[in-house]
Amino acid sequence: MNYKQIHNTVVVRIDKGEELVDSLKTICKKLDIKLGSIKGIGATDKVTVGLMNTKTKKYQSKEFNGDHEITSLVGNITTMNGDVYLHLHVTLGNIEHKVFGGHLTSAVISVTFEGFIDIIDGQINREYNDEVGLNILQL
Ligand code: FE
Repeated sequence: MNYKQIHNTVVVRIDKGEELVDSLKTICKKLDIKLGSIKGIGATDKVTVGLMNTKTKKYQSKEFNGDHEITSLVGNITTMNGDVYLHLHVTLGNIEHKVFGGHLTSAVISVTFEGFIDIIDGQINREYNDEVGLNILQL
């Protein structure tokens, strides 16, 4: 991985074989980013996406292997319990050029990933909300 900060934007490159979510979190920690947004594109050959089951209040996760384009990654950076908290969603394009996606748990980069992080000067925390079973924004 490599990154370069220009004013309040960080340009990110994550390389083949690296895990996307861990890499983004490492960059946020190194640069002390507590609030911001992330967008990006790339490719993965091992990716796990989730869907929140509102009845069980748990994520139903599924792993996909083989070539997939990360046609879009969007997400936000906040904090929870003093740690960086990433909330990332992804759409994936498969060999049939069909797109699907979900809540991103992990993705191993197969070619490259190009991300842009926009830093906001501030901090927003999350707390667990039992009613929805999620860590929601404290505003
Ligand atoms: Fe989500």
